[in-house]
Amino acid sequence: MEEPIFKFKKAKHSLDIVYPNKYYGGLYNLGILIVYNSVNKREDWNCNRVFLDQGKIASELVGFSFQYELDIKNILEMKKQCKGFTFAGGPVINMNPEKFRKHFDFLILGEVEGVLDKVLDEYEKGEGFLDRISNIKGVYVDKVSYNFTKELGDYPLIQPFPEKVDETFVFGKCFILEIERGCPYNCKFCALPGFFEKIRYRKNWKEIIDRGLEINKRDRVVIYSASFTHPERKEILKHLIKKQVRASVPSIRVGMIDKETISLIKQLGQKSLTIAPEANEKLRLSMGKMVKDKDYLDFVEICNEVGFTKLKLYLMIGVPGMEEKDIIEMKEFVDKIKEKFNGKIYVSVNYFVPKPKSKFQDHPFDKKILKQQTKIVEREFKHYRVKMKGLKTSYLEWDISKIDS
Ligand code: SF4
Repeated sequence: MEEPIFKFKKAKHSLDIVYPNKYYGGLYNLGILIVYNSVNKREDWNCNRVFLDQGKIASELVGFSFQYELDIKNILEMKKQCKGFTFAGGPVINMNPEKFRKHFDFLILGEVEGVLDKVLDEYEKGEGFLDRISNIKGVYVDKVSYNFTKELGDYPLIQPFPEKVDETFVFGKCFILEIERGCPYNCKFCALPGFFEKIRYRKNWKEIIDRGLEINKRDRVVIYSASFTHPERKEILKHLIKKQVRASVPSIRVGMIDKETISLIKQLGQKSLTIAPEANEKLRLSMGKMVKDKDYLDFVEICNEVGFTKLKLYLMIGVPGMEEKDIIEMKEFVDKIKEKFNGKIYVSVNYFVPKPKSKFQDHPFDKKILKQQTKIVEREFKHYRVKMKGLKTSYLEWDISKIDS
């Protein structure tokens, strides 16, 4: 049973917001929480969260959060239970809306904040609903239009969790804290810079933390940000320490983070750090990630001084221009990190999946080249335990989201 925070009320209308995958992952989705909070705040509406393995679709209006390409199968299956209007939003939809429009009555593009309320206002008026919402910015009925807010909207403070969570819930029972949206960097392989024109930082983070912890009674915070560049990031971490909670931060952007910040993260109870060197230095720079090998080695030095003992490294193969010698260089770079680091490193190598809206969107996903490069990785990294996602899964990710020519 979930902790009842929003009480079910006698209301004229209801909306189901669907996360088309497992409950233990979907609970951490911020988009779902934003919809859940904003709909439930309305007098005449109830909002239910539905997951692949939890809850049932029963409302007259059903929204799907499309986060991950392979969820398309679950979405189409779950959609069969829908009786009324359906819509969708989320990263996969936003990367290539034309491709998915046919599966839903309408799509919400860009940010749902500020759009959903207008859609529900029109829904309440009855007949002619789709015609009327087709002119709302951010709603795609017959023409693509995106909504981006200048400032980030109201915070989804109410974040229900089940009373008890087991170890499958990766972050445990926590309060999700989005401190920024977008990224100030311009990596050519990433869809984020092409999607959000500029990064926006939450200014009222203190109030969000204080109220969020109090309302939800949590002692753990998970910070959401793409690159952790909030100008007040140290103050945020210090405030969390003062609140005596545990907290974790996402992947760290090396080159802009100093010893004090790493030390604050350690004090908050985080056990491991994740960095993404992506490839060898030459290719990393050509991909627009302007971080040198030396910056990573300096970072490792700081990790040693602070006392971190686990470091996760994310690498890719199949990136434009990659040759055998680049993979060899990449492995030599990992060796240097391993040699310098006092703890244990975990290496994960993924296939580069070109994403629509990124600068590399037209790069082909060439299975033959990727198979050859996989063999080189197996040979070069034979003394490491490397985690790799399957080639088939990565191919499907690419095939489902790619722009059809
Ligand atoms: S890969 Fe990370 S640092 Fe680069 S643009 Fe994307 S979010 Fe920003």
